Amino acid sequence: MYHHSAIAPHPAAGSAAGVLDPAPADARDAILFQRCTWCGTAMYHRLLCPVCQGSDLRTERSEGVGTVRHSTIVHRNTPAARNVSLIEMAEGFVVRGRVMGPPIGIHSGDRVRLSTAKDPVRGEPVFQLVDEPYRAWT
Ligand SMILES: [Zn+2]
Repeated sequence: MYHHSAIAPHPAAGSAAGVLDPAPADARDAILFQRCTWCGTAMYHRLLCPVCQGSDLRTERSEGVGTVRHSTIVHRNTPAARNVSLIEMAEGFVVRGRVMGPPIGIHSGDRVRLSTAKDPVRGEPVFQLVDEPYRAWT
């Protein structure tokens, strides 16, 4: 008479070791911001939380979508005309950057998506319009 004890394979050891952030290909093209661990306020390039003055901040990575809050044109009427916009990101912090496209085509309330985290020339983030990628500007 055989008495087989059930063969219960042990779950592979080490499955909980976890893989540390596989770092997506676009990781470098993302805006990093700080979030206060005390009150949860999101901020950009700050050392202290503007709300509670806490200094315990952790760095998070933005999804890269936001809304234009303010847009101005610099060097209007010159070939170097460009817009400088304040973008309120979905996470709640505000970033200054540039929105691609004709400078006069950017308006408050336009939804934008991060295109390049650091413009190679000015080192500022560059965004592109989400809703109206192209209006007939020809
Ligand atoms: Zn805070």
